[in-house]
Amino acid sequence: MPKNDEMRPVIPALALPSLPVAGGGVFPVGRVICIGRNYASHDREMGGDGRQPPFWFTKSLPAIAVAGGDRPREVAYPPHTTELHHEVELVVAIGGGGSGLAPSETLGRVYGYAVGIDLTRRDLQRDAKRLGRPWSESKDFDGAAPVGLIHPASQIGHPKSGRVQLEVNGEVRQRGDISELIWPVSDLLARLSASFTLRPGDLVFTGTPSGVGPVEPGDILVGSAEGVPSAVRVLIGE
Ligand code: MN
Repeated sequence: MPKNDEMRPVIPALALPSLPVAGGGVFPVGRVICIGRNYASHDREMGGDGRQPPFWFTKSLPAIAVAGGDRPREVAYPPHTTELHHEVELVVAIGGGGSGLAPSETLGRVYGYAVGIDLTRRDLQRDAKRLGRPWSESKDFDGAAPVGLIHPASQIGHPKSGRVQLEVNGEVRQRGDISELIWPVSDLLARLSASFTLRPGDLVFTGTPSGVGPVEPGDILVGSAEGVPSAVRVLIGE
């Protein structure tokens, strides 16, 4: 066999999803990491006491849906659920790597910010919690992570307060404030880097405020975060 044939892919290589960046260029996504229950109000609505240490779950690359355009991005209603829920979240796009970072070191590793929706098959998540099983099936499916346009921190800074909101068909369903994060972005990334090596291309979903609820085919979701100029827009498909 010729030597240059040894590295030939034997199946089609997965194309890495890339998110458009405001002002030009794209952000190639390598991984999606999400924090659970990072707003006290949402922790309480899910039955917690509002004071839990952070915990993480991940979504794989086929979950990414590029949803930063003026027109909503259609995401198919996933199979095997009758309770698809929205969770609007501030999303951090990591531009520099590192592990064991101090909170003061973390913001320097942030490339920028976007708004995302952590779509969740809530019925499957409830079963998983009850049975002590992983959350993957409830959180990680095609289109489960719509993300809007990324805005570089060099242009918008690091939002530390401001309204986070989700509207369904023009009606406000979730409203919180970035200042209510139990673990603010700098602390969150420090905690995260104690367990994982952060890499350029990581996307970190920072948690959702209270008001999560079901969506139906035909619904239009618009998520926004004050300080991040672009919304995330999704049309739930059939
Ligand atoms: Mn979430």
